[in-house]
Amino acid sequence: MDIRTVGIVGAGQMGAGIAHVAAVSGFDVILTDIESRVLENGIETIDRNLDRQIKKGAVEAAAKAEIVNRISTSTHVDEHRRADLVVESAVESLTIKSEIFRQLDELCPAATLLASNTSSISITRLAAVTGRPDRIVGMHFMNPVPVMRLVEVVRGLETSDTTVSTIRRVAERMGKIPVECADHPGFVSNRLLMPMINEAIFAVSEGIATPESIDKIMTLGANHPMGPLRIADLIGLDNCLSVMRILHDELGEDKYRPCPLLVKMVDAGRLGRKSGRGFFSYDED
Ligand code: NAD
Repeated sequence: MDIRTVGIVGAGQMGAGIAHVAAVSGFDVILTDIESRVLENGIETIDRNLDRQIKKGAVEAAAKAEIVNRISTSTHVDEHRRADLVVESAVESLTIKSEIFRQLDELCPAATLLASNTSSISITRLAAVTGRPDRIVGMHFMNPVPVMRLVEVVRGLETSDTTVSTIRRVAERMGKIPVECADHPGFVSNRLLMPMINEAIFAVSEGIATPESIDKIMTLGANHPMGPLRIADLIGLDNCLSVMRILHDELGEDKYRPCPLLVKMVDAGRLGRKSGRGFFSYDED
């Protein structure tokens, strides 16, 4: 199937990033969110990140206006009627995502592919609320989207080979490297990454070391480009908690128990970068 127009539901940090790479790669983009303020912020972020790429020589200055013009925004989900592929990137909640998939299934033509950027919610479960389970797939981008090369392509129980190969092609056209995996809690990336982050939070709460020291030990000692607590702040502590809860509930093992300090920080609204404070503090920029 020829994909020309990509719809994105949710214009938060991931949705705006996906819109950015899709527009740079020549796709027409429909970006929606329930909040117009989020859409405005998303476009501002894309504008700023494009300037950064122009400075680095990764994008031509003359192409900027055309790239930005390829993105249309709306607070109405039915705009996605025109899309060939819709990538859902709203908050990590099964109830909200199921409702979005139900709406998209109703309003999009039968051939439209529906993907989710979920970090951990079952693709098979989202597919089951639609009448097109063969055209539902996980398209899991990494944060920050314009920088990270991987797209985890998650195959639900009913996802067809044609859907998977189309998504692989779209990811490649966006300059990404698609890697396939089965639909299992946390897929591969978060099955491995989140328990490490959760363990780092236990280390803070047990007073083993400060957040700065924990991150320094992992950057210098394991050659990770970023420490686990800075990654947690970047991902959003609410997202980290949602993933840990899914790993814990669905795999049923104590080793996936979310650290109580993580729960407390989310309860307090300390969500990381997006709220200005998590394990570290961030100013406006
Ligand atoms: P975010 O909080 O920055 O953005 C979520 C957006 O969804 C918000 O703007 C919110 O207004 C919007 N939203 C909520 N309900 C909606 C609805 N019914 N319709 C349309 N929009 C709605 O979150 P994010 O970090 O961008 O995460 C989005 C998705 O991407 C989640 O599923 C998350 O698990 C996944 N993800 C996140 C990361 C990460 O590092 N943050 C990485 C990979 C995948």
